[in-house]
Amino acid sequence: MLNEDLISACLICVRKGRRKDKDSPSPLVQDEQRQYLQDPCVQERIIQADFEKIVDIPFSLDYCEWLATHVISFFNHVNLLYGAISEYCTLEGCPLMNGPGNVQYFWHDEKGKKFKCTAPEYVDYVMSFIQKDILEESIFPTKFGNAFPSTFQMIVKRIHRYLFHVLAHIYHAHYNEVHILGLHGHLNTLFAHFMVFNLRYDLLEEKETDVLQDLIKALTTFVPAETMNPLTSTSGEEGAADSDNTAQATATAGPLVSSSTNELETEVTQT
Ligand SMILES: [Zn+2]
Repeated sequence: MLNEDLISACLICVRKGRRKDKDSPSPLVQDEQRQYLQDPCVQERIIQADFEKIVDIPFSLDYCEWLATHVISFFNHVNLLYGAISEYCTLEGCPLMNGPGNVQYFWHDEKGKKFKCTAPEYVDYVMSFIQKDILEESIFPTKFGNAFPSTFQMIVKRIHRYLFHVLAHIYHAHYNEVHILGLHGHLNTLFAHFMVFNLRYDLLEEKETDVLQDLIKALTTFVPAETMNPLTSTSGEEGAADSDNTAQATATAGPLVSSSTNELETEVTQT
């Protein structure tokens, strides 16, 4: 999808991405200057692909299969990139899971109680949570005859919300390390592909993506006139989320997002 080398390096299971060398760049203090928005950083890509065409679903493919394939791929790529800089995302260096504009992400437990955690803890929760979903046959069916659950799109939205938080943290707190390691082109390409796909299929809410809206505009000018979601979604379906799927016992766990700047706190839709 993005890059053959990168794809081949992705692992099916959750593992930390490892660089081929052990020479570590010096961790630098990241400020809010948003280096990732400055030229030539924002121009960096590993390929010049027309993602608007790439994300179009071929007429002969099933929509849920299309979603599932991308979810797994995006998960592997985000996991790989985060793994490459994970040694700099420490309890001491990243005591909060944050993103641009002082946005903080809070995890919450199965009972809906939110709690503050460090960035590495949050990312570990995210990756473990997504991996559990992906390996669940009743959610991501692999055997012939097994259907996707009616709540599949809602599950995809939740997964992509988590992945967006991780990407937002990487851009906000670890862009220097990403740049030093020469991975900024990969990060931009992955993020551009991820966001065009999300925009096309209406998988992320604006309240989530606002923190990186400037970067999104810089990386892609694609603005969907209307989404191409062939499913009739929606609140009704989401309201029934997980009710037919015992594997979603942990589905109530998830993030809360808030901004320490304006004290706004928005609870992400619970499932
Ligand atoms: Zn971090």
